[in-house]
Amino acid sequence: MDNALPLAGQVALVTGAARGIGWTVAARLLAEGAEVWFGVRKETPETEAGIRSLPDAERARVLPLDVSDAASIDSGMDRLLNRSGRIDILVNNAGIVRDGLLLRMKDEDFLDVIGTNLVGPFRLMRKAVKPMMKERYGRIVSISSVVGTTGNAGQANYAASKGGLVALSKSLALEVASRGITVNVVAPGFIETDMTDALPGKVRDAALGHIPVGRFGKAEEIAHSVCYLVSREAGFVTGQTLHVNGGMALV
Ligand code: NAP
Repeated sequence: MDNALPLAGQVALVTGAARGIGWTVAARLLAEGAEVWFGVRKETPETEAGIRSLPDAERARVLPLDVSDAASIDSGMDRLLNRSGRIDILVNNAGIVRDGLLLRMKDEDFLDVIGTNLVGPFRLMRKAVKPMMKERYGRIVSISSVVGTTGNAGQANYAASKGGLVALSKSLALEVASRGITVNVVAPGFIETDMTDALPGKVRDAALGHIPVGRFGKAEEIAHSVCYLVSREAGFVTGQTLHVNGGMALV
């Protein structure tokens, strides 16, 4: 163990870590010295090979974890805690979109998004907080979105889930503040990943016009923000939302 690294000796779980922001956050925590569990919806040879190719792969673990499934959360967290004995850092990153106007939105499109983006993090927090309380230390960061604050036409389900994540995190922050556990949120604006690559060119161009910095964000910029919030030095920061959006919304 390289004790000189800031997160040496700590155990982290990042959900939705097979690609995109989750992958980048997990790789960054690994580089900072943590033992990192890459939570993946499905274990594939590609994900396994990608993780094995990372410079600090000996501290990386793959954890099949479907955040929309209570049983998968229970068994995944049990496996992590049995093997590592503790959890210091939880990053709720996994998220989905099912866009459409509210008028035509099906129940399942609303409930699936809430289930993955809000109920999943709630269940993971509930599981993680107990061992954190025992250690009197913990860092929980959830990835929300700028639209959780501003709302967005065509994303009522997604915006509700992401706004809910902020209120959930604030409430838990107050419940566990005295136990050395912080609970915060990172709210990205438009970040270049598969999620935004899937948008039509017209939508991407329109979004760019609303970003004063003049470009889309990078997953590394979200990872950097997460890294700050999970650091020991950020112990006085809790219940906060760090907006990383290139000036798109000033809140
Ligand atoms: P992405 O490229 O679509 O990746 C999403 C990841 O979440 C994938 O690895 C996916 O797994 C995983 N996932 C989805 N449902 C899951 C489930 N039920 N259980 C476990 N994992 C699941 O998305 P991204 O852009 O990296 O977004 C990451 C987070 O940032 C999301 O919460 C998103 O809402 C938020 N965000 C993104 C942006 C942006 O501009 N990109 C902006 C604001 C907020 P599979 O690989 O199996 O599909």
